[in-house]
Amino acid sequence: DKFRLDDEVVLVTGAASGIGKAISEACADAGARLALADKDVEGVETVAEEVDAETLAIPADVSDHDQVVAMVEETVEEFGGLDVTFANAGIGRLGATVDDYDIDQWHQVMDVNLDGVFYTIREAAAVMEEGGRIVTTASVLSQIASDFPGVAAYVASKGGVAQLTKQAAADLGPQGIRVNAIAPGWVHTGIGGGAFRKDSGMDHLHEQMEEETIMGRLGEPEDLKGVALFLASEASAYCTGSVLTVDGGWTTT
Ligand code: NAD
Repeated sequence: DKFRLDDEVVLVTGAASGIGKAISEACADAGARLALADKDVEGVETVAEEVDAETLAIPADVSDHDQVVAMVEETVEEFGGLDVTFANAGIGRLGATVDDYDIDQWHQVMDVNLDGVFYTIREAAAVMEEGGRIVTTASVLSQIASDFPGVAAYVASKGGVAQLTKQAAADLGPQGIRVNAIAPGWVHTGIGGGAFRKDSGMDHLHEQMEEETIMGRLGEPEDLKGVALFLASEASAYCTGSVLTVDGGWTTT
C-alpha cells in the first residue's frame, strides 16, 4: 500500500487544531511516528495523547527561527531521523484594505505564514535524507485575490508559500527531497479569529461561500486527510513542486 507511512517519522506544525490536527490523525492511522508542534502547548499535548501513534509534543512558535531549529533537533533526537514534514502552521487576520493595512499586522502574518514556512522547510531539509518529503499548506488565495476585505497580508503570504514550495522543490530535487503544497479552499477550522467555525454566527458569510462552491458546502478538516497522505507517501512518487487544490470546486467557477 503506497499510502502507508509505517514507522516513518512525520513532523507537523500547527498540529493542535484544524487541518494540522486532521493531518496528524491521518498520519497516525497510516502508521507514522509523530512529532507534533504548535505554539498552543496544551492543545498540541492533547492531540499527541489522542492520536493512536507514538508521539512527541513540541511547543514551538514557527515564526522564531531558534525555536524551529530546536523543534527539528528534538524530533531527530527522539526518533532518530525525519522523513516527512508538514509546514502547516498559519494564521489569518482580517485587517483593512491595502492602503490602510496595519504595519504590525502585516509583519505578524508574514512572520508566521511565510517566514515560518521558510524556517521549517530550511531546517527540515537540512536533516532529511534522500526520499524525504515536505508538504506546505498554501491556500486557494495563493493563486487569486479575494473580494473579502482585509486579507492583503494573508494573500501575499500564501502566494509566497506556493512559490517557495516550487523553489524548494527545485533546490532540493537533486537531494531526492520532494516538496509539494496543499491549497485548501474554505475549511471549518479555528482560523481567522473563529470566523470559519460552524458556530461563528457568520452564517451569511458561510452561505455565500457555500453558494460559490460547486460541492455546495465548506470543507471539513477531514477533507484534507487524503491529499495529505498522498503527498506524504510513496503514492505521490512523481510529484514535486505541485500545488494541489482541494476546495470543493470554489476556484473552478
Ligand atoms: P487553525 O487555527 O485551526 O490551526 C492553525 C494552528 O496553527 C493552530 O493550532 C495554531 O495554534 C497554530 N499556530 C498559529 N501560529 C503558530 C505559530 N507561530 N507557531 C506554531 N503554531 C502556530 O487553522 P487551520 O485552518 O487549520 O490552518 C492550518 C493551515 O491551513 C494554515 O496555514 C492556514 O493558512 C491554512 N488554510 C486554511 C484554510 C481554511 O479555510 N481554514 C484555507 C486555506 C489554507
